[in-house]
Amino acid sequence: MIEDDVQIRRFVRVALEDAGFAVTEAEGVKRGLIDAATRRPDLIIVDLGLPDGDGKRLIAEVRGWSDLPILVLSARDQEREKVAALDAGADDYLTKPFGVDELLARLRALLRRRSSAAADVIVRFGDIEVDLARHEVRKRDEMVHLTPTEYRLLAALLKAKGAVLTYRQLLHDVWGPGYANRTHYLRVHMANLRQKLEDDPARPRYLITELQVGYRLIGI
Ligand code: CA
Repeated sequence: MIEDDVQIRRFVRVALEDAGFAVTEAEGVKRGLIDAATRRPDLIIVDLGLPDGDGKRLIAEVRGWSDLPILVLSARDQEREKVAALDAGADDYLTKPFGVDELLARLRALLRRRSSAAADVIVRFGDIEVDLARHEVRKRDEMVHLTPTEYRLLAALLKAKGAVLTYRQLLHDVWGPGYANRTHYLRVHMANLRQKLEDDPARPRYLITELQVGYRLIGI
């Protein structure tokens, strides 16, 4: 955990140790990078505003040699920073203040995602079943017809296994390079996807909007 706020460090350490994790603490980017390289943790929790630099720099450096899960801690007014951190390679974020349950749920999801990296062919959420080999989607055993773009959008979200994807990442994955600013494409196709998959598209249970950040698929 790389965080300069002593109280948050203590809070996170107690919560994680109670849950059976071992925690190493660092106050800044420099120490954090040394610990990450030498201790080889299973996961990194990193604050964005650190005394000797920016958490994004640490994320970018770690991504140069590792794909280990990275969870960002951000303040409520750091929307832009949070998105930049995700684009730099962080896997998910928590906005301060956060509770123990939320913290542990995010960590477990990230660790689970890693251990099941070899993708399953059939993925289920709610009453929806996606066959990734055949590109087929069923809801309550009825075939759902998705356009190729809708399918790629769904597949990208499934691959993230519950982690948030930024608008930029989704536009890049689904449409390709050069589409980073076409967020209206995403809104339109996400609305269609919800119409086809959600029981109540206005109140989605699975295809969740993270305001000003992106989307995530929950319930997998
Ligand atoms: Ca800080």
